[in-house]
Amino acid sequence: MAEYKRKVLIIGSGPAGYTAGIYIARAGLKPILVSGAQVGGQLTITTDVENFPGFPQPIAGGLLMENMRQQALAVGVEIVDDTIIEADFSKRPFICNSENHNLYSAEAVILCTGASARWLGIPSEKKFLGFGVSACATCDGFFYRGKDVAVVGGGNTAVEEAIYLTNFARSVTLIHRRDQLRADKAMQEKLFKNHKISIEWDSIIEEVLGNEKPLGVTGLKIKNVKDDSSKILNIDGLFVAIGHKPNTDLFKGQIALDNDGYIATKGKSCATSIPGIFAAGDVQDPNYRQAIVAAGTGCIAALEAERFLMDK
Ligand code: NDP
Repeated sequence: MAEYKRKVLIIGSGPAGYTAGIYIARAGLKPILVSGAQVGGQLTITTDVENFPGFPQPIAGGLLMENMRQQALAVGVEIVDDTIIEADFSKRPFICNSENHNLYSAEAVILCTGASARWLGIPSEKKFLGFGVSACATCDGFFYRGKDVAVVGGGNTAVEEAIYLTNFARSVTLIHRRDQLRADKAMQEKLFKNHKISIEWDSIIEEVLGNEKPLGVTGLKIKNVKDDSSKILNIDGLFVAIGHKPNTDLFKGQIALDNDGYIATKGKSCATSIPGIFAAGDVQDPNYRQAIVAAGTGCIAALEAERFLMDK
């Protein structure tokens, strides 16, 4: 057990966390960053990243995050691979306890705990994750040029992703468990007008089918819940778009959250309901969920934390 007393504590090691760390360290404020269980965050479960500026060739998500970690270390961020399991923001300094029985106290905290994609929870989905199964069309759609793909879900994300994927894919099948979409009417109209998109209503995915060598998706076994019939869809990629869950359980009851459980930040800033606590990245962003946006808000949170400490 160790006790870390620092000016700034950063929780989370995705693009938001590392960027916040880099800015805080370069301001001479010696931050400590606690990585969380998924070191590097969600990008570590994608394959190639082509939309993060600065890399003329695709870069593996895991490598991009390792580069960010090395950059953070190089400018003086102290990184501890540990997971915060308890936070007390009711008094100052703010106190956090960890899985490894460490105690962290800080005058300012930047929350970058991210969000987790919701998954169907079937074993074959996990098996092909990163090899034909993805939770981000913006990240991976480009790799399906001229191919057949499916999207599962009926909300705005699923509809938006299905439409976006028609820029690349030959055909897109939207699979939804009911006979009505949850997405906005305007989005639905766009979807219905798109000739590349077909819809499997009242359907659930029973299994993702694929090859072992090389590992890759070749189809889906879907079941119609109304008549219990099953069929095989031949597709090359499945995009799971059934929602995200912000990683905010730790902060419930202490800090203001929005209706969907994301940390509420004020206007264009990263300030939360508690002065001295800032939030950056997907944990406060239900809309964009992009690495570059997370990095940008990590920078904003760091600059605001610096100002907060200066004004104290
Ligand atoms: P939502 O929660 O709105 O939708 C999730 C969808 O997934 C629902 O249709 C739901 O079905 C389905 N679903 C949930 N669990 C399962 C499961 N286990 N198996 C199969 N299907 C499942 O999430 P979104 O990510 O679509 O949107 C999140 C928020 O972000 C919303 O507020 C949305 O409006 C907003 N958003 C806005 C955009 C925009 O304005 N451009 C773009 C993207 C998102 P069911 O309907 O039956 O519950």
